[in-house]
Amino acid sequence: MQEVLATPIEFLKGVGPQRGALLRSELNIATYLDLLQHFPFRYVDRSRFHRITELSEDLPQAQLRGILGPLHMIGEKQGRRMVSTLTDATGSVDLVWFKGARWLQSSLKPGQEYILFGKPNAFKGRINFPHPELELAATWEQGLDAALQPVYSTTEKLTAKGLSSRAIWKLMKTLLPQLEGQLPEVLSTELVDWLGGVSREQAIRQVHAPQDQARLDAALHRLKFEELFFIQLQLLEQKLLLQQSLRGNVFTTVGDHFNRFYQEHLPFELTGAQKRVVKEIRKDMGSGHQMNRLVQGDVGSGKTLVGLLSMLIALDNGFQSALMAPTEILAQQHFATISRFVEGLPIEVRLLTGNTKQAERKSILTALAQGAIHIVVGTHALLEDRVVFQRLGLVVIDEQHRFGVAQRARLWTKSTVPPHVLVMTATPIPRTLAMTLYGDLDTSVIDELPPGRKPIRTVHRFDSSRNAVFGFLEEEIAKGRQVYVVYPLIEEGDPEKMMGKELKDLTDGFESISRRFPLPKYAVSMVHGRMDQATKDYEMARFKKGGTNILVATTVIEVGVDVPNASVMVIENAERFGLSQLHQLRGRVGRGAEQSYCILMTDDKLGNDARARIETMVRTNDGFEIAETDLRLRGPGDLMGTQQSGLPELHIADLVADVHVLQQARQVAMRLLDMDPELKDPKHAPMRSALAERKRGKPLWGRIS
Ligand code: ADP
Ligand code: MG
Repeated sequence: MQEVLATPIEFLKGVGPQRGALLRSELNIATYLDLLQHFPFRYVDRSRFHRITELSEDLPQAQLRGILGPLHMIGEKQGRRMVSTLTDATGSVDLVWFKGARWLQSSLKPGQEYILFGKPNAFKGRINFPHPELELAATWEQGLDAALQPVYSTTEKLTAKGLSSRAIWKLMKTLLPQLEGQLPEVLSTELVDWLGGVSREQAIRQVHAPQDQARLDAALHRLKFEELFFIQLQLLEQKLLLQQSLRGNVFTTVGDHFNRFYQEHLPFELTGAQKRVVKEIRKDMGSGHQMNRLVQGDVGSGKTLVGLLSMLIALDNGFQSALMAPTEILAQQHFATISRFVEGLPIEVRLLTGNTKQAERKSILTALAQGAIHIVVGTHALLEDRVVFQRLGLVVIDEQHRFGVAQRARLWTKSTVPPHVLVMTATPIPRTLAMTLYGDLDTSVIDELPPGRKPIRTVHRFDSSRNAVFGFLEEEIAKGRQVYVVYPLIEEGDPEKMMGKELKDLTDGFESISRRFPLPKYAVSMVHGRMDQATKDYEMARFKKGGTNILVATTVIEVGVDVPNASVMVIENAERFGLSQLHQLRGRVGRGAEQSYCILMTDDKLGNDARARIETMVRTNDGFEIAETDLRLRGPGDLMGTQQSGLPELHIADLVADVHVLQQARQVAMRLLDMDPELKDPKHAPMRSALAERKRGKPLWGRIS
């Protein structure tokens, strides 16, 4: 990095120690470079003004020009505030400040013409602006060096210390002239030309101080491209390195285990999509390179079987396999499914989780080390150091997004030649995210459900029509079907954090359902995170066997639980769930041949986001469409849990809005590595050193599995 860019931010004129500390803590801006990379999230066209009569509460921002009225203090105690007005030729609006009155009184000049910028609110039929940005029209005209004014994100604390969006812009204008010649090009000349000839330095200047829309657009495109390009380059290079340097175990044969299972034990025909994916996996595992493949398939698409078939190929080649699930319940279920599938075949399958008893654990560990176990199913417990394999050839990870990348990396220590890795996920990852997160993984998609499945019918019902819903449940139960009723649990997974209110909602629900569906005609069971494991297991097993008609539960049943006879999923307080979670829950039904239903119960009043989620659920069963919508509604960080996901930090590009740039960047990166894998060509030197710098800064070590 250029020296000057590493300068601590407090040295910039206008910052100083106090604001410097705030910039660090509030916006993570510690150096000149950080400030430079604090890109505007929007631009305001300063030449356009709203007339006051045009204002409505729906406008996200408004810019006005008018005369500032007198300042008054009104209200008592907490409600004490300063008010004023701004008047233009068409009308007037109210201005209100709850803080900073003294400073404002000394700096604002009533009677003068001001430019106002802020978010309009409506109150009792009048428009008001809380804490508007104001600038004297005269000063504003002097400062009109850019028609397009960048808007920077800031925080309340920063604004209170004078660091409004506009003040940050001023800092930028102080900084930029000091950086002349300090922002070297990182792309090849060829590529810069292809991108419209905007150099890096020009682009950065333009983005912080745009001259006109066309030049701004070109600059934004170039910087977004650059950001995404280096991420792709790094991912693709990593993939290339893996393929070249790390030989994988070669699984050449498809032998007896696979064939006997396929011909004699498989109770149904594979779907076309399953066949295709198994073929892709076979090809990978026979290639001599280590496989890193992500299988995406909607709930119920039959991923478990694909995993099993892959493990049988490993076995046919003399290797052990591990199947890792994110929860105890899932691990148990996989174990049961797989044991049932391979019954009668000479295949040793065992279950190892945190709950495995000491003696049992010991015998499993010994047998694994000796190679006497062919397939081990388990949870995180499989990652512990004392779990040693004789010859681990394949690791299948189910519902991968729950595993941190660090955990995936630990698998590598388990054998000298890295095992093949198959990651299966039922949460379809939007293509854009998959490309950014898993650019180094090959992906397969199971885009077909087993035949005979009827699409689940999803409806939205308000709490007020609960009686009708109960009536419907009664009819379904009379037909022999079973029902899930799910309550939200925000801190899922950690029983200690299960909040009192949520537990109460659940038990209240359980009681009212039990009253409506009384013994002995009906049986209702309940499962939640506060129960001990044995009770939970007992209740799950009872429901699975058809011993109860209704299972009232928290989201513990979210992932993977398979009860084909359950055909109705009622989701209580559906407005409180995220889209992916709703889709996962819905996937618990529709597993048998019967028509299945998902009933989303909500409060009579719904916010906009909640409404959008519910409408999406009612409209489509397509997991990919739902994932895309979720990404749009929530943003990638939230969706994946940025901390865990290894999602690279993006300063300027947006994975939702900039899909096309991402695709472009990926293609260019692939072509480049095809031509010059090590970027040895002198004309690629800028990219080589920028890439090296990136890697020094933040190794993407987690991406190796
Ligand atoms: P998921 O992809 O959600 O993990 P599962 O592997 O649990 O799905 O499969 C869902 C159900 O479909 C299971 O009961 C499984 O036995 C069944 N199944 C899987 N493949 C097929 C197939 N090709 N034909 C019919 N049923 C299948
Ligand atoms: Mg599954």
